[in-house]
Amino acid sequence: MGMEVINKYVTIKTHIDGAPQDSDFELKTAALRLWAEPGSNDVIVKNLHVSIDPYQLNRMKSYSSSHRAINFAVPISPGMDIDAYGVGRVVASGHPEFEEDDLVVGLISWGEYSVVKGGNMLRKLDPMGFPLSNHVGILGFSGLAAHGGFFQVCKPKKGEKVFVSAASGSVGNLVGQYAKLFGCYVVGCAGSKQKVNLLKEKLGFDDAFNYKEETDLKSTLKRYFPDGIDIYFDNVGAEMLEAAVANMNIFGRVAVCGVISQYTDSGKRAAPDMLDIVYKRITIQGFLAADLMNGYTDFISTTQDYLNDGKIQVIEDISQGVESIPSAFVGLFRGDNVGKKIVKIADE
Ligand code: NAP
Repeated sequence: MGMEVINKYVTIKTHIDGAPQDSDFELKTAALRLWAEPGSNDVIVKNLHVSIDPYQLNRMKSYSSSHRAINFAVPISPGMDIDAYGVGRVVASGHPEFEEDDLVVGLISWGEYSVVKGGNMLRKLDPMGFPLSNHVGILGFSGLAAHGGFFQVCKPKKGEKVFVSAASGSVGNLVGQYAKLFGCYVVGCAGSKQKVNLLKEKLGFDDAFNYKEETDLKSTLKRYFPDGIDIYFDNVGAEMLEAAVANMNIFGRVAVCGVISQYTDSGKRAAPDMLDIVYKRITIQGFLAADLMNGYTDFISTTQDYLNDGKIQVIEDISQGVESIPSAFVGLFRGDNVGKKIVKIADE
């Protein structure tokens, strides 16, 4: 029963403990029957768009303290298929909540098809007139991390001065746009001239700079924030976090969304001046989007309104085909992507 297909999927050849390279990955094939045992609760999904996210690198390491922190951060073993957020279409279901042809969003995998055991972490998707790719990025976890991280963790007030790193990236570009729409003063940093122009000219940032051209980040931030930083939304960690803390105002807040510079180099640990933390009463708070579900309804309705009113720009960087997953992923750590990195696996 059920057609048999040859499923192509991506896996790692070995654990990856530094910056990833294309040669760390391999494309495998396996026969897959598009059939689910009734009552098994399994769902077979044809993958359409998959998310490419930096945190996956921490899962690929031989050891990382993140492995035991939360379910979705569990380690990936060589040869295993790799689960990732994405959008797909149900091709077979043994689960009462899903039927063939349903659009779904949730944890699928870096391949052409996913076998979602027990329908776990999957839900039906109503695209509400938005392109499917939007549901992987701006209306998915990147959007929730940006919106929830900014509003719930940073607790902004109008007019406050906000600094965002990796500001042209998936989360960063949205943080900057939400902050501007809310009425903050926003400066972002990114790794190329083209990205800096995008921030200033298309996304409405008040200012932006290329951190790769700066030698002394503390004085750079002093130039961009002569009156100090109230909120730092950190995506990169290391020296940038240290420089931001040195420039924070009293009662400043740092939301640590990610520390991508440390993902590829475990020696890159921020050592902010703790006297600043004490005397300026700075809050530094890490968070995971999964903790911010209580803000989900507000996030979705606000973001849909902004999209419908053309107030927020969608920046997506989409590669085509399962074969492009390794280079798409490796590119995240080289700054190749502009906005949300997605791989489109198949046409709808
Ligand atoms: P992204 O920003 O779209 O892509 C990564 C970007 O980071 C690259 O384009 C690059 O841009 C920059 N980058 C790479 N290596 C760097 C380095 N060594 N130093 C400085 N910048 C570097 O990725 P994203 O999905 O939006 O994720 C951004 C951060 O948020 C990551 O740390 C990620 O782990 C985190 N995150 C956290 C949550 C959560 O729930 N807490 C959710 C989603 C993402 P440049 O050209 O500007 O260098």
